[in-house]
Amino acid sequence: MSRKKPIKAVALISGGLDSILAARLMIDQGITVLPLKVLLPYLPRERDRTGAKSRLISRLEEWAGVPLAGVDASGEAVALLKSPEYGFGSNMNPCLDCRILMLKKGAEFMRRAGADFVVTGEVLGQRGMSQRRQSLEIADRESGIPGLILRPLSGRILPETIPEKQGWVERAKLLSLSGRSRQAQLRLAESVGIKEPVNAAGGCLLTDPIFSGRLRDLCCHEGLERRGFELLKFGRHFRLSEKTKLIVGRDEEENGLLESFAGPGDVLFYTIDVSGPVALARGEFDVGLIALSGSLLAYYCRPAPGCGVKISHRVQAGGAETISYCLPADEKALEAFRIGK
Ligand code: SF4
Repeated sequence: MSRKKPIKAVALISGGLDSILAARLMIDQGITVLPLKVLLPYLPRERDRTGAKSRLISRLEEWAGVPLAGVDASGEAVALLKSPEYGFGSNMNPCLDCRILMLKKGAEFMRRAGADFVVTGEVLGQRGMSQRRQSLEIADRESGIPGLILRPLSGRILPETIPEKQGWVERAKLLSLSGRSRQAQLRLAESVGIKEPVNAAGGCLLTDPIFSGRLRDLCCHEGLERRGFELLKFGRHFRLSEKTKLIVGRDEEENGLLESFAGPGDVLFYTIDVSGPVALARGEFDVGLIALSGSLLAYYCRPAPGCGVKISHRVQAGGAETISYCLPADEKALEAFRIGK
């Protein structure tokens, strides 16, 4: 195969194994690969406790000879949740619209970088909504670069793409994977020296029923915006009234985050004399709702039976501190207010 200039592909990297393997297959065919991560806000805060994913990315960067680039699609990703054209999956996951967004970002990057096509780690039939044959066709069309999206892991069972027709990529060297089994990917990973177990990208919060419940509540009561969306990712969430929500931290890190998220008019609650969580309340308040918030916070302090907890609250920013003595809510009452059960 004679080439006038090196052929370049943008490889969309999700952080899971499949996209890394897809990029590797291209590198093995002599393609210059530019790895790109499209940053979405749908992932949990802590995703790589063992460091395995970071190590995997480092391997890819070594193979590609360039660092992983990133483009932030958070604003568009939150906005598309309002009314995704192709609807939601089993929870609040608009997978097909989300894939289209990622491909569009890949296409923009491709043009800017002077690359020739885009590579993804998608496997035909691996995920219900976005990796059916018809969904892949829709995504290709809507990406704005039909024919220029190559899925090396399933390439031999998908229609021929421009990179194959042009002779940039040998179709015979593409794989013909389909379905949910991961055995072939694990074997391939081992053959290229990846021995640490790394799952598929996974971890999307929108596929989680509890998170989806919180998101529905946000859309219904407060409206969807970026800060409100970020707040859904941590704490215990309670809907106290149509216009009032309380979030209780689960550990010190979350307590700090709740303090940092408090904006004008929000109310922060702290325990006094005993250690306990911080709570952030947002919306409209009256004396009853302040007392209710205090009782929910007191529940997590686990005071001795019949005893209460001194709790302070302060309206942000700079409101006067008020201290009250709160008896803990009983568990059944507390559960009745919980969002996303
Ligand atoms: S699982 Fe989440 S991140 Fe993945 S395509 Fe669906 S919505 Fe997007």
